[in-house]
Amino acid sequence: MDAPRNFLRQIIENDLHSGTHTSIVTRFPPEPNGFLHIGHAKSICLNFGLAREFDGRCHLRFDDTNPGKEDPAYVASIKEDVRWLGFDWGEHLYHASDYFEQLHAFAVDLIKQGKAYVCSLSAEEMRQYRGTLTEPGTNSPYRERSVEENLDLFARMRAGEFPEGAHILRAKIDMASPNMNMRDPALYRILHQEHQNTGNAWCIYPMYDFAHGLSDALEHITHSICTLEFADHKPLYDWILDQLPVPARPRQYEFNRLNINYTVTSKRRLKTLVDNEVVSGWNDPRMPTISGLRRRGFPPAALRDFCERIGVSRSDSCVDMSLLENCVRENLDATAPRAMAILKPLKLVLENYPHEQEEFFTLANHPKNPDMGTREVGFAREIYIEASDFMESPCAKFFRLAPGKEVRLRGAYLVTCTEVRKNPDGSIQEVICTYDPATRGGDAPDGRKVKGTLHWVSARHCAEAEIRLYDRLFTAELPGKDADFLTQINPASLEILSGCKIEQALVQAEPEARFQFERQGYFCADRQEHRPGQAVFNRTVTLRDSWAKVTG
Ligand code: ATP
Ligand code: MG
Repeated sequence: MDAPRNFLRQIIENDLHSGTHTSIVTRFPPEPNGFLHIGHAKSICLNFGLAREFDGRCHLRFDDTNPGKEDPAYVASIKEDVRWLGFDWGEHLYHASDYFEQLHAFAVDLIKQGKAYVCSLSAEEMRQYRGTLTEPGTNSPYRERSVEENLDLFARMRAGEFPEGAHILRAKIDMASPNMNMRDPALYRILHQEHQNTGNAWCIYPMYDFAHGLSDALEHITHSICTLEFADHKPLYDWILDQLPVPARPRQYEFNRLNINYTVTSKRRLKTLVDNEVVSGWNDPRMPTISGLRRRGFPPAALRDFCERIGVSRSDSCVDMSLLENCVRENLDATAPRAMAILKPLKLVLENYPHEQEEFFTLANHPKNPDMGTREVGFAREIYIEASDFMESPCAKFFRLAPGKEVRLRGAYLVTCTEVRKNPDGSIQEVICTYDPATRGGDAPDGRKVKGTLHWVSARHCAEAEIRLYDRLFTAELPGKDADFLTQINPASLEILSGCKIEQALVQAEPEARFQFERQGYFCADRQEHRPGQAVFNRTVTLRDSWAKVTG
């Protein structure tokens, strides 16, 4: 199938066709100040995807110009997430900090051209001089410093002679520009902070806008693709590249960032959730981080499919969470083997099944894909069924098990309930049934109809598991819109069930293996806590969209 058109594909096709470029180079430039989220997945799929599609290459560049907020743990997680999504930067791993020496030389060049100056206004004064959206700014009293004085001060900034905030280096552009980004923006500031890559080599650090475009140019990026909020920065991006002897001339293109309802896609907010212990960490399965979605059981192919389906445009919008969940369902419906698991067990005893007898049923791992094979599932006198599949006094539309009613144990036998045994407190202890030996495999030879089919596991052939039922993290469609987002957490976003009963073989499942637990949903062996002797499964998604009726 032809990939759907998007305007970036069109631009690239035109550039290749006209000979503007012979091959394309894109980049994904995260700041290592948090874990990547689903919004970043869109940018990754776009940048790496376009490079792959047009036989070009995509760089992974850490935009590490804020030493105070950055951390090597974030760097490691970002690399892992990009690889897991199915992309590879090959040899092309870079850091803005790789270029600190060159960036500094570019800054000196601007000073020499009279296009940058050291400004000594305080932060508060700077704000006053900057003007507003409706009023022009005022020139800094330091704007006309001589080239020599600027070179001297900038050298002394680098040498560490001044405290933070004493001076900054600014571009000399236009304090009256209607675009605030062009009102003599800062290029370098003093930060007496150690950097994770460059240690204590520097105490001045370039600003994002200065470092970003020049890094693009140094890497010969052809198409610098970023989100729409950078559209206002584009004149500055171009201005910087136009003043300096750069080895290549990249162009910036903006696309709409991904917003999804019922969640947040901002590193700052995600960090707040982690810091306030609302979630167990950046990779909590409720987090929209790539590592959280991974731990939840979302397949990388489903995320790529989602990113392709939402497309790119130039207008901001909010995507429905159900679209993402449906991509996951579609993928798992086709790829996840089926299995049986009892979340809230009720014991069922087959009174006419001999005590010592056992037998095995051969069940298909996938109803539509015979290539996925079969498995042997043990059966004996004591069975567990889902407590909610039994009602002592059933209502009219209840077709599952009830006293005197016959149901099918999936793939095994038809059974009829003969008795209910109670605990002293009146709760149900177990239900007693008879099975019909003539119905082996689950079909009655006389063709009698049975409406309910239940999943089950045999008490002698099952294992115990902890199963975590995850749901959306927020109850508000747009968290943070009408209230503090921290007050809009879904109290039912996690339910932990212990003592669940699963098919024995599931204990051997590899961490991250995904299954459809019949009639329950899609589940994934927890990447961190599932291990031999301790089965832990996370619910990835329910079988159907249970939010549609609530919100629709
Ligand atoms: P956040 O807003 O969550 O803090 P950020 O933009 O500061 O994210 P960066 O590390 O700077 O995070 O982002 C790396 C790249 O990912 C940038 O090119 C940015 O445009 C892109 N990106 C970030 N968030 C989204 C999003 N929601 N949708 C699409 N692309 C995004
Ligand atoms: Mg950013």
